[in-house]
Parts: sequence; structure tokens; C-alpha cells
Amino acid sequence: MPKPTLAQQVEGSKKFFREMNALGITGIVDGGGVSMYPSSYQTLFRLWQDRQLTVRIAYHLCAPKPGSELADLQNLTQLLPQGFGDAMLHFNGPGEILIWAAWTDGDITPDGKARLAELLRWAATKGYTIQLHWNPDRTVHDLLDVIEDINKDVPVRDLRWTVLHLYDASEDSLRRMQALGLIWGVQDGLYFAGERLQKAVGAETARQMPRIATAMQLGLVVAGGTDAHRVSSYNPFVSLQWYLDGTTIGGVTTRGEAEAPSRRQALEMYTRNPAFMAHDDGERGTLEPGKLADLAVLSADYLTAPVNEIGKIRSLLTTVGGKVVYAAPPFAEGR
Ligand SMILES: [Zn+2]
Repeated sequence: MPKPTLAQQVEGSKKFFREMNALGITGIVDGGGVSMYPSSYQTLFRLWQDRQLTVRIAYHLCAPKPGSELADLQNLTQLLPQGFGDAMLHFNGPGEILIWAAWTDGDITPDGKARLAELLRWAATKGYTIQLHWNPDRTVHDLLDVIEDINKDVPVRDLRWTVLHLYDASEDSLRRMQALGLIWGVQDGLYFAGERLQKAVGAETARQMPRIATAMQLGLVVAGGTDAHRVSSYNPFVSLQWYLDGTTIGGVTTRGEAEAPSRRQALEMYTRNPAFMAHDDGERGTLEPGKLADLAVLSADYLTAPVNEIGKIRSLLTTVGGKVVYAAPPFAEGR
């Protein structure tokens, strides 16, 4: 297919943000990722510049290529201090792939680990928030060793670093993450991949994947998400249903009830906790006097609807900063 022009990309992104508004979304954290280059963000900046954004965005920057990650990120962030931007769009630090050798889900080499340590130490010293892809639990000790070491010199708690994915996180890893003040970003990938996982690890082990309730009991901030819309559904209600019942799109319940969050906890994984990730918890993420009027009126009561119908919930009215960005009947009348 021909590559869309900038004007087409702007139009397409605008429509996609409206689609998110129709699902009650008022803000997203973009964790950065593979094939998202600095040039990919030009569409976003144009929409921001033209005041056409209808979703608040905190974005992360992925290391563009293997080999020169630290130099590339140092160069790209020279004019991007942590938090640079405004209430609609701000830079939230490096994300997803920081060292390519530590990105693929195999074992990390000693050289890769040393380079990751150097990069993370730079990020901590500069006061950057980071989000980092990590699978599987078998190797996460490599990452946690590095962060514990940095934490002795530069406390990382207030930097709100996030470990992304880690579906098979053990209780021990979660304890170490909690002690460091790390956030756990756990997506809904198993909504599609649950059966495959069950076959690979066995039904008993799959029942504890991911250990959401355990993490919350330990006091970790756990944020939900959909990874990317080419990985999973971008619909937050599909995600919420899966967090609650652990049942895949094929109707197989892979996760046990013991690791399910409560409805309110699951909701916080999509509201309060990601706002915390984005350092925006003072302005949004909860409905309180003095906070921004970012809210959605839903088609059904999420707290009382049957769990297997939560995935069908949509927004009837969505506002961002008090401005209507989406309306369906009965709110659409006269508009
Ligand atoms: Zn990832």
C-alpha cells in the first residue's frame, strides 16, 4: 500500500482518537515501541499544535536502533526534559526498548546487562521516568539487580519507573519491585493468547498468570493496558472484563479467581494508576473537585453489570477538560 501523506495520517489519527473517545478514553500513556521512530510522532505534534487532540497523551521514546541506544537517547532528549509539554501532550521519558539486546525475551548477555545499567543510571541521574519491556520472570532478576544497584545512589521511587508485561511475575519479583517503588504495567495480551499460554505452561501455572491480586496486596501500583492495537484490542472494557474473569476471547478461563482484582481495583488500573504513571495524578485519574473534567457517561453501570457484558460497554458522553469530545444519543441530540 502507498504510504499515507502527513495530511492523511493527521486525519486518520484524529479519527482513531475519536474512536477512543467513544470507548470512554480521555488519556493514554504511549509506552513507545518497535517501529515507532521519532518521525512517527510528527502527526501527533501536528494535532497538538492545531489543538485537535481529543485524548491526553504522555509519550515515551524508544531507542531507535541497536548499538547506539544511550547516545541516541541522549541526543534525542537534549531538548526534552522529563515532563516537557502541556496538559494535552507531554514527554514521559524513554520507553519500551532501551537496550535492544535486553528486549527480545531471551537471556541477556553480560555486555547487554552492563549497557542497560549504564543507560538506566543515566536516566535516573537525569530524572527521567522510564517504561521498560521485560519478559520473562526467569530473567527479571538481571533487571532488578541493576535497578537495586542504582537505587543505592539515586533513589528511583519518585521517578515512577514501570516494568511492562512480565505476565509470569513471581511473588518474589513483585516484592523486589515493590521495595524499589516500581510500577507494574500488565496488559491484556492473554485475552487472545491465554489458550496458547495454558498449553505451554500447564493449567495450574496459568491460573496465577498474571498475579494481579498478589501484586496489589503487596502494595504495588498496577496499571492496565492494551500494549498496542496491533497486539490486542484497544477497547478498555474488553480489557476490564478480562482482568475480572481471566476468560479469553475463545471462552476459556485461564486465570484463577484468586488473582482477580475487584471491580474497583480493575477500574483504578485504567484510571488512577495510569494517571500516576504519567505524573498526572494531581490533575486527573479520579473524579474529585479541583481535578480536570475528564469523564465518560457509560452505557451500563460498570460496577453492577454482569461481568461477561462489561466488554460491550461504550461511552454515551465523553468530555476532556469539560469539552465534549464524543456524544451518542440521548446526549447527541441538538449537536
Ligand atoms: Zn513490550
